[in-house]
Amino acid sequence: MNRIELMQGDITKLNVDAIVNAANKTLLGGGGVDSAIHRAAGHELLEECKTLNGCQTGAAKISKGYNLPSGFVIHTVGPVWQNGTNEEEIKLRNCYINSLELARENNCKTIAFPNISTGIYGFPKHYAAETAISAVKDFLKNDTDINKVYFVCFDNENYSLYKQLLNIT
Ligand code: ADP
Repeated sequence: MNRIELMQGDITKLNVDAIVNAANKTLLGGGGVDSAIHRAAGHELLEECKTLNGCQTGAAKISKGYNLPSGFVIHTVGPVWQNGTNEEEIKLRNCYINSLELARENNCKTIAFPNISTGIYGFPKHYAAETAISAVKDFLKNDTDINKVYFVCFDNENYSLYKQLLNIT
């Protein structure tokens, strides 16, 4: 069974156990996918996020999904691209690994990721896609609990990069 699947579209529409939010350190909302998730989940998400005490880069925290079709939101903070001078690759990898760990701890079998850090945070898309795919594949090698990991691409550039890197024709 292929446990990695590629999709293009809006992550807030997905009926999975957990969707991942590319949040910022405050966890109090931002732009891009973060604002789409807060809009779709409703104000209760922000209320819960206020109790989470923020999140460090590369770490992850979990909340309920409220009005979203997904039961949980896993909030992770991607690195801001600084020309590769600030361990951005390791931090981005940690976002994926820590989100998957948290999903597993909460019995989530299906999880969907956006392309963390490739929007406002400016991480080069090809490099980010390679890092994301290798992190997820490495995690799944040692895991039997997670059934499906979805990479959800919003823009065409990310979608074609993932298609190529995942060998999807
Ligand atoms: P970051 O600050 O981590 O770069 P962004 O939200 O700016 O976060 O961008 C991360 C990725 O999320 C980008 O590739 C962007 O195209 C994508 N994105 C934006 N809105 C959505 C959405 N509704 N569903 C899925 N992906 C989205």
